Amino acid sequence: MSLWQQIAAEIADASGKDFTPSAPTGLSGGCINGAFRLSDGHHSWFIKTNRATLLPMFEAEAAALDALAATATLRVPQALCTGTGDGMSYIVMEHIELGRAGAGGWEDAGSRLATLHRHTEKHFGWSRDNTIGATPQINRQETQWIEFWRRHRLGYQLQLAAENGYGGRLQQRGEQLMTRFPALIDHNPVPSLLHGDLWSGNLAFDTQGAPLIYDPASYYGDREAELAMTELFGGFSKEFYTAYGETWPLDDGYRIRKTLYNLYHVLNHLNLFGGGYGAQAERMIDQLLSHC
Ligand code: ADP
Repeated sequence: MSLWQQIAAEIADASGKDFTPSAPTGLSGGCINGAFRLSDGHHSWFIKTNRATLLPMFEAEAAALDALAATATLRVPQALCTGTGDGMSYIVMEHIELGRAGAGGWEDAGSRLATLHRHTEKHFGWSRDNTIGATPQINRQETQWIEFWRRHRLGYQLQLAAENGYGGRLQQRGEQLMTRFPALIDHNPVPSLLHGDLWSGNLAFDTQGAPLIYDPASYYGDREAELAMTELFGGFSKEFYTAYGETWPLDDGYRIRKTLYNLYHVLNHLNLFGGGYGAQAERMIDQLLSHC
């Protein structure tokens, strides 16, 4: 049985409906995986594929989509199933036709994100590890946010950078930051359910103009880490931030902590793509050390 025959059979099984699709349509836009639409003219599914060994990545994505959907705040595609076949792994989810922000769409996204963040837990981390891009993201549960961010976010990426050959000044300054940064995050955040990878490529609007989010790397963490990432690659619209702040204002000191949180993603980009991200990470570390 070919991969696509297997996926079609799985969809029929999991959805409880006959499903005899036309050939899959390749979609563009994904950074990491193959992306396809599979349709029989009545029902359409969005499918991502990768190497078979990456099945846990898709299983974690399905679990995150379920966790986000359970909050009934921001719309997410409903996950249907995951599996492997023909040397590949895959995830199947509801296909959502994408449109443009409707009137009030960005406000709606901001206030719904704040409401999502009201879903809290006792521990930082999550019940399972997942991936950020293609990099493992460690979600071991901790009661102290500083410890969580130090060990499982910055420390993990700095170590990976060392293994990838990015040593020298980046590592020296990085080590200084690791010992000195706790003073920057003394504000005791609550563990909020986060999307975890919320940049502009992972938020869109459906054809009704309502916001949706996808491609999560969820865990329970400081909601500021989420807001910081939305600002990293260009930022969302002003209405989004105003509505977020009206629903749940941010604490003092966010402007400084933002750099600390985004350093994680810049280090991740260094580890994934190399290039100028090393210099950017060093500049961010210098800036943070000047505040410590
Ligand atoms: P990757 O994991 O490779 O980064 P994404 O999950 O970001 O892939 O999906 C790639 C693109 O496909 C997105 O940028 C978006 O335009 C589109 N997309 C994502 N999820 C859906 C969906 N459920 N239905 C329709 N289009 C989607």
